[in-house]
Amino acid sequence: MVSEREVLESVPTKLWIGGPVEATGAATFPVYDPATGKVLVEVADATPQDAVRALDAAVAAQADWAATPARERGEILRAVFDRITARAEEFALLMTLEMGKALPESRNEVRYGAEFFRWFSEEAVRIHGRFLHAPSGSGRIMVHKQPVGPCLAITPWNFPLAMGTRKIGPALAAGCTMIVKPASATPLTMLLLAQVCGEAGLPDGVLSVITSSKSGAVTQPLLDDPRLRKLTFTGSTEVGKSLVEKSANGLLRTSMELGGNAPFVVFDDADIDAAVEGALLAKLRNGGEACTAANRFHVHNDVLAEFTDKLVAAMTEQVKLGPGSDPDTTLGPLINEEQVNIVRELVDDAVALGARVRLGGKAHDGPGWFYPATVLSDVPQEARILREEVFGPVAPVIGFDTEEEGVAAANDTQFGLVSYVYTRDLDRALRVAEGLESGMVGVNRGVISDPAAPFGGVKASGFGREGGTEGIEEYLSTKYIALT
Ligand code: NAP
Repeated sequence: MVSEREVLESVPTKLWIGGPVEATGAATFPVYDPATGKVLVEVADATPQDAVRALDAAVAAQADWAATPARERGEILRAVFDRITARAEEFALLMTLEMGKALPESRNEVRYGAEFFRWFSEEAVRIHGRFLHAPSGSGRIMVHKQPVGPCLAITPWNFPLAMGTRKIGPALAAGCTMIVKPASATPLTMLLLAQVCGEAGLPDGVLSVITSSKSGAVTQPLLDDPRLRKLTFTGSTEVGKSLVEKSANGLLRTSMELGGNAPFVVFDDADIDAAVEGALLAKLRNGGEACTAANRFHVHNDVLAEFTDKLVAAMTEQVKLGPGSDPDTTLGPLINEEQVNIVRELVDDAVALGARVRLGGKAHDGPGWFYPATVLSDVPQEARILREEVFGPVAPVIGFDTEEEGVAAANDTQFGLVSYVYTRDLDRALRVAEGLESGMVGVNRGVISDPAAPFGGVKASGFGREGGTEGIEEYLSTKYIALT
């Protein structure tokens, strides 16, 4: 069993550009433990020049990596999967330390995150083109796929491993090189991953990691550089929009995995116990700090009281708030004080407008950034919590009467990442799933993420897909060769 001390003593803290390198000027920034508010370690603080160094390395490696046989690329990806799996406990503990989530959540993320290397090691050898005779008889049409070229990935703090591997796996499988700029709150997991990729035989320059406290300044020269060909971003809608604007100059290919405001719709014919079990997963996975987290529970008025009572009872029984590394903990702290304040404001706003606190509802005093599992009932339509992403363990529950009303309420948001629906009626399940304005729908399931499925949103939740057979397309350009 690996200890906290061992993990922190061995964790890489330098930039990774063909190996560990100091940031220009040897500047560093602190990484905090959300359970205590104390500094864990200092990590290299990249400058814009360091970012350009990483792009130089990516450009230098691009042609050879694209020309590396797909089987060989796949085997390196598979070796990375094996190495992450062998060091799963170390990855899990490191994530818990820098991000706060409970250890079982971190272990789940290690399994999920590693799986993108295995899945895309298998997809690397399945990049197909097309061949046909022109219908006019005037020649032959050959279509083939090529890597788009050097990519920049910018990732959030909530899934420090998986939000990176969902991008790195398909990019590398497609033959692209990639620079990753992880969130400043959780840079360590990505640095460890880069080291593991190097140990697994990934050539220098194919994957670089630049950690920085100045995300805008450090990524700008890359977005301005015509050698960069793609930006893939996971994070907030606000930052995503600004990055799409900045990418326009270089006409970069872009993929945007942005914010969510997932509705969880429970019909009167649903299995209420199963719905409560699904609600717990959809709400509390990753402590509620997930883009897929159920943000609002729309429940048919005939089963509203039963669902709410059972949800409160299940949370009371099953949730143990505490430091993520404590073996009894099921709900860790939030990422930082700012996030605690955001959750607090949204709850206070709903309560001021008449919502009833059925459980929790009050941030804990420090040390650490803790907010308890919370259930709100009688939440009025005007409450901000129904429109804004709460990113915490808070479940607002509201009633509806007809199917049309339930679907309309679910769709009443600018976001469209995922929706959940609980019903025993197959016709209704399909009808409602088709009517929900989101990129993904969970039917009688509280967790939908799967490396073999296309993950992504519509509306303000972005565009592009990660995972599945679709995931690799984001890193391929189509070339048409006309033949006689
Ligand atoms: P964020 O503030 O948008 O940050 C995401 C990343 O962008 C971080 O690496 C951040 O660096 C960087 N960044 C911030 N401003 C930037 C700028 N001006 N230029 C370049 N990079 C910039 O989001 P977050 O708070 O980390 O993550 C939470 C959000 O991510 C939520 O809205 C959640 O729904 C969304 N999310 C979406 C998905 C999905 O698949 N749809 C998955 C997970 C999370 P710093 O850390 O240094 O600020």
